[in-house]
Amino acid sequence: MTVLPSERLDGRHVLVTGAGRGIGRAVALALAELGADVTLVARSAGELDAVAAEITAAEGKARAHPADVTDEAAVRRLVDDAERHAPLWACVTAAGTNTPGPAAEYDIADFDRVMAVNVRGTFLSCQAVGRAMLGRGGGGRIITISSQMGSVGYPGRAVYCATKHAVDGLTRALAVEWAPHGITVNAVAPTFIRTPLTAPMLAEPAFAADVERRLPAGEVGEVEDVVGAIAFLASDRSRLVNGHILAVDGGWTAW
Ligand code: NAD
Repeated sequence: MTVLPSERLDGRHVLVTGAGRGIGRAVALALAELGADVTLVARSAGELDAVAAEITAAEGKARAHPADVTDEAAVRRLVDDAERHAPLWACVTAAGTNTPGPAAEYDIADFDRVMAVNVRGTFLSCQAVGRAMLGRGGGGRIITISSQMGSVGYPGRAVYCATKHAVDGLTRALAVEWAPHGITVNAVAPTFIRTPLTAPMLAEPAFAADVERRLPAGEVGEVEDVVGAIAFLASDRSRLVNGHILAVDGGWTAW
């Protein structure tokens, strides 16, 4: 007799936004390694093609679908196309951005752009995937990528923090709305992870030193540190985990 549900995702179709680089790319590679058939989404087709080629070279299944997650019609088309390929079991919304800056001087055009990608884009992706799952009677997993900045503040990140607090609220509300239909909605909330997004920030010695001081273990994370939590939330192992914000923050928010 076995009691441990499988972590495998063989044959299950998963859509990953922001899959061109950084966390989303690592998620796509990890889920493909677990047997998932992955639809890769980002704006830049070249990066997506490279990730798809990497997955297929390792005998995995992936296809690139360039789209801007802030574009409602594009997101609907994306999910319709993905569903025609195979019904979606899960969606990971890793498309996101950040333009740090002092709040008093923050450019409202940057505010609109960061809000659009992180909040509107996450909502549109969840909405389109959720609608498809509900349309066939329910069942599935949605995993949003929040941040430790969804729970705390940090200087120069008022707008980013606002977007990630919004992602946490969206995640909890969708979880309770769609739970009766067998759809779970959870967030993963990483600390600073080395990616193309954070490379320029962490290249500033004073900033890097402050980040390391705030991390109990004294070191920032790598993308490999984040994918296990997402794989868990995408699998049968997490059936009763819902509306949860899973901190993968090395203890940043623990003190
Ligand atoms: P990244 O810049 O390395 O990669 C972001 C990906 O999202 C790219 O593939 C990009 O093309 C895509 N993207 C951006 N805007 C898009 C849009 N409008 N439509 C479609 N795709 C779009 O970033 P990352 O560091 O991997 O971050 C991924 C997510 O993780 C973001 O939501 C970010 O806020 C979150 N996060 C990152 C860190 C970190 O330290 N790197 C920490 C916590 C949370």
